[in-house]
Amino acid sequence: MESDVIAMADIRVPEELSRLTELAYNLWWTWTPQARLLFATINKTLWGLYRNPVQLLINIEPHYWERVVDDGGAFMAQYRRVIRDFERYMDPETGTWFKRRLPDYTGGPVAYFTPEFGLHESLGIYCGGLGVLSGDHAKAASDLGLPFVGVGLLYRYGYFRQAVDPDGRQHHIYASSDFHRLPLRPVHDATGRPLQVPVDFPDRTVQARVWQVTVGRVKLYLLDTDIPENDPADRPITAQLYVRGREMRLCQEILLGVGGARALRALRIEPAVWHLNEGHSAFMLVERLRELVKHGRSWKEALDTVRRESVFTTHTPVPAGNESFDNALVAKYMQPYVDDMGVEPSIVLDLGKPYPEGSGQPFNLTALALRLSRYANGVSRLHGEVANQMWAHMFPENERAGRPIKHITNGVHVPTWLGHDVRTLIEENLGADWHDHVCDAEHWEALRKVRDKDLWESHQNQKDRLFRLVRHRLVGQFARHGKSPDELREVSRMLEMNTLTIGFARRFATYKRAGLIFQDYNRLKSIITNPDHPVQIIFSGKAHPADEPGQELVRHIVNIAFYSELKGYVFFVEDYDIRIARHLVQGVDIWLNTPRRPREASGTSGMKAALNGALNLSIADGWWAEGYNGANGWVIGSDKHSDNEELQDYEDSSSFYDLLEHQIIPLYYQHREDGVPLEWVKWMKESMISVLPNFSAARMLREYVDMAYFSEAETGRGEAS
Ligand SMILES: *Cc1c(COP(=O)(O)O)cnc(C)c1O
Repeated sequence: MESDVIAMADIRVPEELSRLTELAYNLWWTWTPQARLLFATINKTLWGLYRNPVQLLINIEPHYWERVVDDGGAFMAQYRRVIRDFERYMDPETGTWFKRRLPDYTGGPVAYFTPEFGLHESLGIYCGGLGVLSGDHAKAASDLGLPFVGVGLLYRYGYFRQAVDPDGRQHHIYASSDFHRLPLRPVHDATGRPLQVPVDFPDRTVQARVWQVTVGRVKLYLLDTDIPENDPADRPITAQLYVRGREMRLCQEILLGVGGARALRALRIEPAVWHLNEGHSAFMLVERLRELVKHGRSWKEALDTVRRESVFTTHTPVPAGNESFDNALVAKYMQPYVDDMGVEPSIVLDLGKPYPEGSGQPFNLTALALRLSRYANGVSRLHGEVANQMWAHMFPENERAGRPIKHITNGVHVPTWLGHDVRTLIEENLGADWHDHVCDAEHWEALRKVRDKDLWESHQNQKDRLFRLVRHRLVGQFARHGKSPDELREVSRMLEMNTLTIGFARRFATYKRAGLIFQDYNRLKSIITNPDHPVQIIFSGKAHPADEPGQELVRHIVNIAFYSELKGYVFFVEDYDIRIARHLVQGVDIWLNTPRRPREASGTSGMKAALNGALNLSIADGWWAEGYNGANGWVIGSDKHSDNEELQDYEDSSSFYDLLEHQIIPLYYQHREDGVPLEWVKWMKESMISVLPNFSAARMLREYVDMAYFSEAETGRGEAS
């Protein structure tokens, strides 16, 4: 307990507000507007500066509290309302979906292993879609009352922060986090010392400290090697997310898999299900084999047991998510485990072979995970098919027809991604308990009766908030570039409220084709600069530090935004993160997605945009191949794809121009009554009604529970050992 006191000594709140600390350390506030408002009410400036209640409470001077509570009781009333809601949410007696589903369940939790968690912008331990999905998965697990623990890494520098220079060159900024100022706490062992778990590396043991993040009812455990007990050369193992050096990456992944399993053991958590969120944590499977073999099980028994308790989700067909390592390198790092089990090294190395026959294959983490999981899934219907084709060679001929890799389409945590105004509108029209019915399609039909004007105004308010953020960011960016006050003043006149606005934001991996719409620059120009019905396009996104072509794309788009005739029509916002994502999906009219089909396994940002009333304009890839219904947005190109990339780019971009010019622009600018585009609003409603119930994280989690975690068909067999 000692260091708990040290870790929290900096927070002093008055007795009558004592629960603020607990509230600050529970990320429930990330999806609860009243809780965020409470912190903002304490001190608007500090909240705006840090957007992190722990940091806010640390920075409040003791005498300042008098001012907060001395307001005729308004603040205390607000505080009590939030605490009441929090208690209601946390109450173990609350009926939850999981309790109704499996009332007699008394087993262990689902342990969810992932290299990144995207929970909030203040906790920079995520890079992109995989992390944000993990965060939404954990939040939905909490909402549904699922027994669940998350396991990940606590990165000192996280993913980099992006700054773009006047030439469009991407710079990588690595800011060090002070963990004691983040909403997380060190975990202690029985003797009160910070809990550490040992992880075997060649000729040495590396210690990992364990931290805890609380997300509503569930806990995440994050490992950190940056502690004095470790050799300085080992301390940076958890420095950077997706570090580019292959050997360092392998070290990270061993730490996540082995260290994560050992942390759960040290905490006496006995998972019923081990879920690998992509293959990065797959060494957890080897560690569990080791445990069983050490306890006297045969190799075959150990394989069967590990397999029976493991679930694997593959998230992408692209190589970055299907990592391979050189066999000799893996052999070196697996030596301590092989020695401990007393087995031949080849028996472990063979588990990572992508092909059943043949030597000299690299060690592949997806292959390892597929081989040792009882259930595997892709993240959309189309991706399920693609993954089956991609990995068919791993399965015996007679299993292939049954499509051994299933699919569970991704979903997003609705309370996290709904904007303030649209959420208020939903509450007014569907009741305060709308979230309990999020998966019920009938329930959302009520949105059709919402007054067009009300929905439009809510949307416009969110759009205004987006524009203010973009202008603010641009002023900061241009000031850094040395622009004059007059040039900075120009920014305040940019972005027009009544102009059709398109958003494109995501990682700048080349398969996502951020530059596709500039294929025919002149055609684009003539469409979007038409004074009668102009178009604004806002881009944001980072390219991985080792991805040169991705950085070239950033430069290309920044140059168009800064210097071409499209200046004032095309914008680039630097340092894409969850905050920018939230504002963009909540405020744009159109959400654009142009991946090279079929490489976008799911994509989730389009779902976030749809639930706020934006219309999707996307390639028929990932989730959109099943989300599109003919009246909730548009499909770019066709549902075919060719190997001729140049031809494909030409066809897709032509289709984009045609749709924009002949369908989208007329729909947006015509049929206006009192400034409200009546036809457009009809489409907005269709977008929300069709996407909200079907692409929510609640729906996704229910499917994981029913089909993967606790499916009778899945868990009923193989009880023998
Ligand atoms: C939702 C989200 C993503 C995923 O975007 P896709 O377009 O689905 O790839 C990536 N980054 C952030 C910050 C997000 O919020």
